[in-house]
Amino acid sequence: MDLKQTAAERFDAVEAELRDISHWMYHNPEIAFEEFDTSARLVEFLRNNGFDVEYPSFGLDTAFAARAGNDGPEVVICAEYDALPEVGHACGHNIIATAALGAGVALFDAAAELGFRVRVQGTPAEEAYGGKVDLINNGAFVGAALSMMIHPSPSDVVDPNFLGVAHIDVEFTGKESHAAFAPQLGTNALDAAVQAYVNISMLRQALYPTDKVHGVIEYGGGAPNVIPAFTKMSWYVRAATTERLDELHDRVVACFAAAAGATGCSYEVKPRGHTYTDLISDPLLAGLYASNSKALGRPMGRGADRDPGAAGSTDMGNVSHEVPAIHPMIGIDCAPWVNHQKEFADATILAPGDKAIRDGALAMAHTVIDVAAGNRWDDLRKPPVRA
Ligand SMILES: [Zn+2]
Ligand SMILES: [Zn+2]
Repeated sequence: MDLKQTAAERFDAVEAELRDISHWMYHNPEIAFEEFDTSARLVEFLRNNGFDVEYPSFGLDTAFAARAGNDGPEVVICAEYDALPEVGHACGHNIIATAALGAGVALFDAAAELGFRVRVQGTPAEEAYGGKVDLINNGAFVGAALSMMIHPSPSDVVDPNFLGVAHIDVEFTGKESHAAFAPQLGTNALDAAVQAYVNISMLRQALYPTDKVHGVIEYGGGAPNVIPAFTKMSWYVRAATTERLDELHDRVVACFAAAAGATGCSYEVKPRGHTYTDLISDPLLAGLYASNSKALGRPMGRGADRDPGAAGSTDMGNVSHEVPAIHPMIGIDCAPWVNHQKEFADATILAPGDKAIRDGALAMAHTVIDVAAGNRWDDLRKPPVRA
């Protein structure tokens, strides 16, 4: 029997349950590294469907590794499931997780028949910290033949543009004083924060369209009549390549230093979580995914046709520097809303959101079947070997 057809039938048998899990996740969002109930529910599904599940896995309490197949190249399907503070599943990770589960189940027979292994890898904390970087560092992608995931979005793009991002906090320290009768004895750390903001705003003129610097004052002082002795800012710095990201990071830190110098404060830069790299889409996988998605009635756009500056960041980028990978974006008919808006979360449980689970799961499964059936493993891109 046709393996793609078998995969679709396998998926059909669990589609209703996957939809229920996606909707349950929408109603029960858990943020980065707090995905305890969510990971437990996903693991329960995978165990019930015959996977051998290690949970927790690779050193993270809310990560799991669900394996099927006995030998051959290993395919890693990534499942993200963290939500965002306040806006819940406004990035649609409920669709990512359930599509990953669906792809895993769909590949069960093909793995045995064609001689490959499939692992649904639970990857916590994509929205903050970069859980996949911890997983990489703990060996989760060593020896993997390829990795893939899908991500809901306003539109369908098989090889989207993603920027590298560094998350940096900066703290300014001065000296408190009475703001009215002895301001000359104080050193104003809020002035340093404001000056840093202004310096970076001026730096914007010299940025490429794919450079992004955005930040907030997280603590700006305690009372108007006390010169603030301490302030804290949080910044994201993004760029199209790792090299450019390093350059831009240094320019931003120079803005902090200049602000501290001008105001007489000291400053300390603290990285928050891991740096995310840009995303490299494997050309063979992207091409196969696009044709399989088209066959399912969902033609995919190409990243090269999109504004390269209209891009976010993902820790799947780091995975794509380790193993051949793709991260297609799947439209959920959510216009005018976009990711990280509350209305986007609401759209994930409407019919187009449910359909994205099916289309994503099957396009991933069928792509893996094409690679395995055609023995195309050696045609995948060879990522640089890490020192
Ligand atoms: Zn997001
Ligand atoms: Zn996301």
